[in-house]
Amino acid sequence: MTNANAAAAATNNPALRAYTLSGALGGEAILLVKGEAAVLVDSGFDFCADLLAAKIKATLGEIPLSEIILTHSHYDHLGGCVAVQQLYPEAKIIANPLVRQIVAKESARQTMRRFNHEAAAVAGMPPLDRIDQLQIDYDLAPGETRQTAIGPILAISTPGHTRCSTSYYLPEDDTLILSETTGVIVDQHYAPCFVVSYRATEESFDRCEQFHARRIIVPHYGLIEGEQAAEFLARSRAASTGAAQFVLEHHAAGQSEEEILEDYAAKYYYGLCDRAQPEGAFRINTSTMISRVIAEAEAERAAQQ
Ligand SMILES: [Zn+2]
Repeated sequence: MTNANAAAAATNNPALRAYTLSGALGGEAILLVKGEAAVLVDSGFDFCADLLAAKIKATLGEIPLSEIILTHSHYDHLGGCVAVQQLYPEAKIIANPLVRQIVAKESARQTMRRFNHEAAAVAGMPPLDRIDQLQIDYDLAPGETRQTAIGPILAISTPGHTRCSTSYYLPEDDTLILSETTGVIVDQHYAPCFVVSYRATEESFDRCEQFHARRIIVPHYGLIEGEQAAEFLARSRAASTGAAQFVLEHHAAGQSEEEILEDYAAKYYYGLCDRAQPEGAFRINTSTMISRVIAEAEAERAAQQ
C-alpha cells in the first residue's frame, strides 16, 4: 500500500485521481475524480470543446460531473464551458467574481473569439464560437470556501498572470490547484506565465508555498505529487525570476521594449507553445509583461529615493 492509499484508507477518503484531457493541443483541462464524484478544472478552447466533453464522458462513464472550476478568464481556460455543460447540464461553473465581470464585457468576449478563431486555424478546425452563452453559476472570492462534489475547496488569490487568476486548495486531499501565475511546464521546460505584475506573482508564489501541499495540479499539465510538488514551485519561481531579470538586464543595456520582445521570444517561445499558443497571444502577453516589469522596477527605484 502506498502512503497515499494508506492515508486514504485511514480517513475513509477515496484517492483523488487526475486526468489531463484536451480537445486540441494547448486546450488542456484537468478532470479530478474522487470515488463516484468528479469536477473539471478549466475547460480548454471553445472550438474543440465537443471533443473534450466526449473525452470527459469516456473517462467518467456513469460518474456525474458536478462542477467546472475556473482558474482565470482566458479563452483557452473557459472557452469549453458551454459545450461541456451541453453534455453535463448539472455541472455548475465556479469562478472568481472578477471572471464574471470580465465575461460580461463585449470587448473581452471579442478578444476571446479572436484568439479562439486563431487557435482553431492552427488546429485546422472550424472556429465554433459559443462564448456569448457562457454563464458563471457561482462566484467564489479569494478566502472563501465552497463545498464541491469532491470536497471543500478554498479559493486563493494568485494574481500575476491575470488579475483574476485564482488557485484552490482541497484540504481533504492536501491538493493545491495552481493558476498560470505560478508557471507551467512546456516540453519539460519551466515556462514563466506572469503578465500583469511580477511583484504580485512573487506574492502569489509565497501564498502557494505556504500550503506545502503534497499534491499540486499544474494548468495544461496535470498532477505532480510528493517532493516534485515542492520542487515545481521552487523551479518555476526561479524561471519567473530569471525572466524578469532577463527583461531588466536588456532594458538596462539600452534595448527598446520591442527589441526586448524579439530577444525574449527567441529564448522563451518554444516547444509546445509554438504549436499551442497562437503567436499573437504570446506577443500581446509578453509585451504587456515587459512593460510591467520595467514599470514596477522603476516605481520601486523611485520609492527608494
Ligand atoms: Zn492564461
